[in-house]
Amino acid sequence: IGTLYVVATPIGNLADISERALTTLAEVDLIAAEDTRHTGKLLSHFNIKAKTFALHDHNEKQKAQQILDWLNEGLNIALVSDAGTPLISDPGYAVVNLCRNEGADVTPVPGACAAITALCCSGLPTDRFQFIGFTPAKSQARQQFFVDAFESGITSIMYESTHRIMASLEDMQTALGAEQHVVFAKELTKTYETFFSGSVGELIEYLNNEPEKQRGELVLMLPGKAKQQDEIPADARKMLSLLEPEMP
Ligand code: SAM
Repeated sequence: IGTLYVVATPIGNLADISERALTTLAEVDLIAAEDTRHTGKLLSHFNIKAKTFALHDHNEKQKAQQILDWLNEGLNIALVSDAGTPLISDPGYAVVNLCRNEGADVTPVPGACAAITALCCSGLPTDRFQFIGFTPAKSQARQQFFVDAFESGITSIMYESTHRIMASLEDMQTALGAEQHVVFAKELTKTYETFFSGSVGELIEYLNNEPEKQRGELVLMLPGKAKQQDEIPADARKMLSLLEPEMP
């Protein structure tokens, strides 16, 4: 019986690939890739010749059974996404879930993940945290999402897309107030890596002054509500932030 290797790839800096990832990718019979052209570039950079096939959100349910059949026939298969750890806001869940349920061998080849990479340099508490994926697309849902994240009482890590960052921060300000602490991490491991730690009001001002910082790949992190220190309920905070501009 073959093994399914869940292989993390770099999130920007190619030097972050592990030796084990390179050996695994070179030795498996097949590589399931989110985008075969994207992975093709990574493989050719490392001089690896391998057979790839596409596994993305739209076909992974059908492909899962095929992958399980191949494993049962004795093939070794690697699963990769475009960047970082597969399954983390990326395809692969249907495959790993089926393989695990059917008793196939599934083994990790760990490496970069933007969420953890951002968290460990954020300065926010790391003892308890939650990863909550991409922020919702609609403003109302996003405001509730930020309130829920804050109210959880633990650090929240979320992904944001470049075209939505300003709208999202405006919603965070509306939901939690301009003074809310937030950490922004951009282009991690790349040339223009940037961290910003401050209030959401300051972050909006910073990004308005330096619009090029709005572009690229972004992670947002919010500290959780501190139990004794903050006894103002979220709806009162929202009301205060609305009243603030009118106050003398
Ligand atoms: N599976 C990936 C991982 O392990 O991080 C995440 C894939 S998800 C489709 C892509 C999102 O991850 C981006 O929109 C961004 O929010 C975040 N991301 C990926 N690479 C990043 C980087 N170098 N710097 C900051 N954020 C990054």
